[in-house]
Amino acid sequence: RTVYVNGEYVPEEEAKVSVFDRGFLFADGVYEVTSVLDGKLIDFDGHAKRLERSLNELDMDMPMGRDALLDIHRELVRRNGIGDGLIYLQVTRGAADRDFAYPEGATPTVVLFTQAKPGLADAPLAKEGMKIISIPDLRWGRRDIKTVQLLYPSMGKMAAKAAGAHDAWMVEDDHVTEGTSNNAYIVKDGTIVTRHLGNEILHGITRAAVLRFAREAQMQVEERAFTLEEAKQADEAFVTSASTFVMPVVSIDGVAVGEGVPGPVATRLRDIYLEESRKAAI
Ligand code: PLP
Repeated sequence: RTVYVNGEYVPEEEAKVSVFDRGFLFADGVYEVTSVLDGKLIDFDGHAKRLERSLNELDMDMPMGRDALLDIHRELVRRNGIGDGLIYLQVTRGAADRDFAYPEGATPTVVLFTQAKPGLADAPLAKEGMKIISIPDLRWGRRDIKTVQLLYPSMGKMAAKAAGAHDAWMVEDDHVTEGTSNNAYIVKDGTIVTRHLGNEILHGITRAAVLRFAREAQMQVEERAFTLEEAKQADEAFVTSASTFVMPVVSIDGVAVGEGVPGPVATRLRDIYLEESRKAAI
């Protein structure tokens, strides 16, 4: 596999980053994951814009312009022969002598790699539905910045796995914030409910697209916090992310949601999302 590191395309075995990199020492970096379907990028511009916002919140600049970034994404897709898969992009503040304060004039580290995922859009889980457990949300208070600080979400995935579930939803003050790596939704009496934007959740690129498609299809949408109890009593539940698109949730803490099978709203939104984003892919 060819990866991109600081201006060069190299075999993964030869790729090198300094042990003094602040991404490694302080989780001082941000990332994006963009999906690839039929060799084309889904929602590239949304991810590029969020990258810029995350960097700005940490007093960093975009390491290059939108077009240069797009070229690297496309070149990696080409070199690695990716039909369906993911592109991971990480920008850290770079290497500097270890000190908590941001260094002056460090050169950012830019890394991109691909992950081949044949049949990404036909994941069997979309038919089966996900089992979710709930865990307290113990992350920091700036979850709107997509930092590489992912230890707590990893712990959440492990807790889910140990419980025989697929993922975990995080709960703060009785309200669901989001999934470990996705945004969370419920459907009640035909209304789609998902948490409003703020510092408490990541502003999902898939979330923005799905809400737009839902409104265009005349579905009712409410952006507000919902409780875990409300979720267990809902007609349907689902999650969204760039790597899973729209995924139905069929149980929460062992309680079946609705009929305990993927619901019609989640299924329809998945179909619309895939169809529309394939059309807009670049
Ligand atoms: N929330 C969290 C915590 C995430 O890590 C992610 C994606 O990785 C999302 C939401 C979904 O965001 P997006 O749709 O941009 O992938």
